[in-house]
Amino acid sequence: MILYNSLGQTKQEFVPHEGNKVNMYTCGPTVYHYAHIGNLRTYIMEDVLEKYLRFAGYDVKRVMNITDVGHLSSDADTGEDKMLAGAKREHKSVMEIAKFYTDAFFSDCEKLNIKRPDVVEPATNCIAEFIQMISVLLEKGYAYIAGGNVYFDTSKLDTYYVFGNMNEEDLAVGVRDSVEEDENKRNKTDFVLWFTKSKFDSQELKWESPWGLGYPGWHIECSSISCKHCGEYLDIHCGGIDNAFPHHTNEIAQSEAFLGHKWCNYWFHVLHLNDARGKMSKSKGDFLTVSLLESKGYNPLVYRMFCLQSHYRKPLTFSYESLDNTAKAYDKLIKRIASLGTDGGVEQDKADALIAAFKEALDNDLNTSLALTSVYDVLKADTNDATKRYVLAEIDKVLSLDLIQELPEEQPAGGDALSAEIEALIAQRSEARANKDWATADAIRDKLKEMHVVLLDTKDGVSWKIEN
Ligand SMILES: [Zn+2]
Repeated sequence: MILYNSLGQTKQEFVPHEGNKVNMYTCGPTVYHYAHIGNLRTYIMEDVLEKYLRFAGYDVKRVMNITDVGHLSSDADTGEDKMLAGAKREHKSVMEIAKFYTDAFFSDCEKLNIKRPDVVEPATNCIAEFIQMISVLLEKGYAYIAGGNVYFDTSKLDTYYVFGNMNEEDLAVGVRDSVEEDENKRNKTDFVLWFTKSKFDSQELKWESPWGLGYPGWHIECSSISCKHCGEYLDIHCGGIDNAFPHHTNEIAQSEAFLGHKWCNYWFHVLHLNDARGKMSKSKGDFLTVSLLESKGYNPLVYRMFCLQSHYRKPLTFSYESLDNTAKAYDKLIKRIASLGTDGGVEQDKADALIAAFKEALDNDLNTSLALTSVYDVLKADTNDATKRYVLAEIDKVLSLDLIQELPEEQPAGGDALSAEIEALIAQRSEARANKDWATADAIRDKLKEMHVVLLDTKDGVSWKIEN
């Protein structure tokens, strides 16, 4: 499999550290609020990656943390703790908030067919491990104590900006937040490992440590939880692109200083979900959650399909119009598949060829949009329905779109493969246009043209007809 690696910023062949075992780590949610669908885009794409690695025969162990302490309202070391702010907002204790939003997160994941990682570890379970890692960093001279806090000394590293020249927007997260410069820091890029002093010192959860009563910084938890469950060598670390700096950059600094060798070989970053105003966030505009989409009548799996229609390394623009197109395509696809018969035996050689085409798409840097088109190729394939059902069931182990459903009798099982494919192409084209990805939009237009499809813009969106 070829994957784009943020380390080195190139596509590289994926080779695990040891045989076919893959240690995979995912930055989990900070459980102070509902996840918005932009956060969930990242988890959907990571889920496809995990399932595909398993499908391709790897023995995957996936670990995720739950941030229930120490993540300040800025990604730098300033601001109030997000958990504490959430507790104040809802007049609950921090632990009540953590429990409620952890459950809400996994309930959203379940609706989106996102598998629960093998290990889910809350940060508050691992205070002893954080203290141990910080102690080693102090012993090795990578950390210092100033003004009551313990800091990581980034000047001790050969390279701090490991992801190279990240675009300014990504770097701006850290820069913008460091307006309030912490005068204890020796270098601008140093960061806190353990707090005992903060101007927001109403922290509810504090622990004894060799440096006084306090609480861990955010970055240390991922380094520490990863080492606890995945050992010294991590194969692949996932997260949203906004975590590449400073969070992942700091994770690498700590882990490699602690271990004394290279830690993680592949970094998989998913780009933002935007809306008409720009990057989706909790603080501006509509707060889009899975529950909100459900209340508007959308099946959460339509949102999953919407995400799969675009490549994970491209920003994705959300609009209800695009989602409606996907909903139509999804509906048609499910009905078409439900109308397949069950007679006949599986023609294994034909099934293998169809599955190979699907794998080829995902082997190329997880090209989910191409993988989706292979679903339509299966429907058009020159083989019996039993073979098609078998292949679709296999493919759905990765796509997890509940492709094979028994529909109630009264629902017309109609819709032919061709119109299902056209609906999907139209949805993909409208998404590409929304993202100003003209090359893809033009390629799809040409493909539709080849199929003699004429698009008609109506007030209810795009409709189409075939002209010969
Ligand atoms: Zn993390």
